[in-house]
Amino acid sequence: MGRYWQKHEPTARHTVLPGGELVRIHMHGGRNIITDEHKKWTGATIVYSVDPKLAQHCQTIVDAMAQISSDTLGCIQFKPARPTDRNFVRLQPGKGCSSTIGMRPGGQTLTLEDPGCTSKFTIMHELLHTLGFCHEHTGPKRDLAVRILWNNIDLSPAKAAANFGKMSEKDFTDFNLGFDQDSLMLYYPKAFGKVVNGRKLHTMVSKIPNAPLRDTPNVGLSVKDIIKLRLAYKCDRILPRKPSLLLPCP
Ligand SMILES: [Zn+2]
Repeated sequence: MGRYWQKHEPTARHTVLPGGELVRIHMHGGRNIITDEHKKWTGATIVYSVDPKLAQHCQTIVDAMAQISSDTLGCIQFKPARPTDRNFVRLQPGKGCSSTIGMRPGGQTLTLEDPGCTSKFTIMHELLHTLGFCHEHTGPKRDLAVRILWNNIDLSPAKAAANFGKMSEKDFTDFNLGFDQDSLMLYYPKAFGKVVNGRKLHTMVSKIPNAPLRDTPNVGLSVKDIIKLRLAYKCDRILPRKPSLLLPCP
């Protein structure tokens, strides 16, 4: 579906929230949020609808949205689509977990395979694509921070290697924050790895001295994820506001 479309394999995720961590300036390897103002959501507000077939996951979807809204101190908001809305994202069941990157005029979809893509943190990850993030390890400067082990990638899923391609330099920024090993948008380092003798191989290793990648998925917004969202959506210019209210599920 073109360069503004990313898929990733579902991962087992568990609950650990980011906390109290200092922002360190690393090499600028993590350009992964869009620069194009036309692809950002008006008023930092995602307008959405949920396909009735996902009704049993409605509460998890709402929890994921509320988490992003509260983690960004109310910067990012969510609003159910009305019949007159044109630009909105429809959350629907389908194959794999995927989203367009950023807002697309005239409507777009966010696909959540059930089961496999319906955990809170997977939904948050997909919503971050919708807000304009590409994967941390596909940012145009990622080679400064990680080495891709191409020979270890399991090529049996169609286009698996495409998940490790690099995005265009002009389209993404990191606001000089540097590569972010804690980002919700970074694959865990064995994603799409071949299994050899019952063990999954690494597909990525860190190039940053004394900072190996963790072998478990990141499961919440990192400090830099939050800062990037607030900068990209110019939340210093938006009046402080309460996080989106939890919306009732049917
Ligand atoms: Zn993804």
